[in-house]
Amino acid sequence: MSNRNEYDEASYPEVGPLAAPARGQLLLKGVRPYGEGEDVDVLIEDGVIAEIGENLTAEDGVEVLEFDSLVLLPGLVDIHVHLREPGREDTETLATGSAAAARGGFTAVFTMANTAPVTDDPSIAESVWLKGQALNLCDVHPVGAITKGLKGETLTEFGMMADSQAKVRMFSDDGKCVDNPLIMRRAIEYARGEDVLLAQHCEDPRLTADASAHEGATAARLGLTGWPRVAEESIVARDAIMARDYGGRMHICHASTEGTVELVKWAKEHDIPLTAEVTPHHLILTDEKLETYDGVYRVNPPLREQRDTLALRQALIDGIIDCVATDHAPHGSEEKCCEFEHAKPGMLGLETSMPIIAEEFVLKGDCDWRWLAKVMSERPAQIVKLPGHGRPIAVGEPANLTVVDPGKKWTVRGEDLASKSENTPYEEMEMAVSVAATVLRGKVTALNGEVAG
Ligand SMILES: [Zn+2]
Repeated sequence: MSNRNEYDEASYPEVGPLAAPARGQLLLKGVRPYGEGEDVDVLIEDGVIAEIGENLTAEDGVEVLEFDSLVLLPGLVDIHVHLREPGREDTETLATGSAAAARGGFTAVFTMANTAPVTDDPSIAESVWLKGQALNLCDVHPVGAITKGLKGETLTEFGMMADSQAKVRMFSDDGKCVDNPLIMRRAIEYARGEDVLLAQHCEDPRLTADASAHEGATAARLGLTGWPRVAEESIVARDAIMARDYGGRMHICHASTEGTVELVKWAKEHDIPLTAEVTPHHLILTDEKLETYDGVYRVNPPLREQRDTLALRQALIDGIIDCVATDHAPHGSEEKCCEFEHAKPGMLGLETSMPIIAEEFVLKGDCDWRWLAKVMSERPAQIVKLPGHGRPIAVGEPANLTVVDPGKKWTVRGEDLASKSENTPYEEMEMAVSVAATVLRGKVTALNGEVAG
């Protein structure tokens, strides 16, 4: 398969003004980089990894975190979240979303443009970026809208947003599909010129009117209008061909079907610059969950069938699907505790994502921690050309790191999550793996489930 999607960090566009890195030293003791080898200590100085070795000592007064053989990974990167600010601060804010990200092991997230107002001009993007840096719990990158007001009619100014202080590098109308092929063609040509990524929410709306569930036996039995696979796959196929003919970098949001996997595989075999993500919920949940009519399971695209989850899992292992993204989508209880068809689509994901991927793929033995670092940190950072994240754990690299405890269980309770909303589909489920600590440029942002500072 082609390496065309592997990028050289020297060619990445810069990021906006960053909060100052933590001054002084931080010493992490008893960690195993990528879960390999013997325990080592990692000394961080002024936000950069200064030394890795055995029995390192720090100067007096230096913060020391003592661990016992925990897994050290590059800080996780999520290129698909909804932090709801501006506009729906009753369900999530940049502060609560950043806290959830830090607790989940993330050092960078990309928050979608379907805010109110829509992130379709530089001033809104800059406001999100600067607020995120003031909080300094996680780098919150605003995603710019592809079309003004997400209306699918007029392109936004990619160049102005890319040049703004927010340094917008990814554009998406996520929540809606850019279904008009002429608008998408213009978008991809414009994006190629600006060297920004387009992320498509693949859903032909003419095939999903009133749909709330995957089109299949479960929806038929429950009397719910079906959302067929072809509504996703037809757009994936069209956009892959557009990327082939017009050359822009195209990313498929939340791949959910077996057919999408086949199309992404085809695109990669043909050297087309197409990448794809999958959510934890599309890897482990199916539409059988809908039997209870619980609105917490309504999501877009919908939970599908086992043949889809199996194909997506194998594709993630094989590298056909590039990365995991949560599509973290907070909603208030009044938006979820109602008739299934009226529930807002979306689920929380930031605090449960790594534990699910670690348990399903690493603890069960199909993959190792290096693979998890690839699909949850390195590839997502490469896809959006984000410098400083998803980097090797090595001297001289920025200290964006996640410490994972692969043996510490915890039980998911919506009310205990840092997120302002409680719509987790994993309520009362036991997770086998925990985040022990998250470090952003040398600053501890979360430690043993507590958000720092
Ligand atoms: Zn979406």
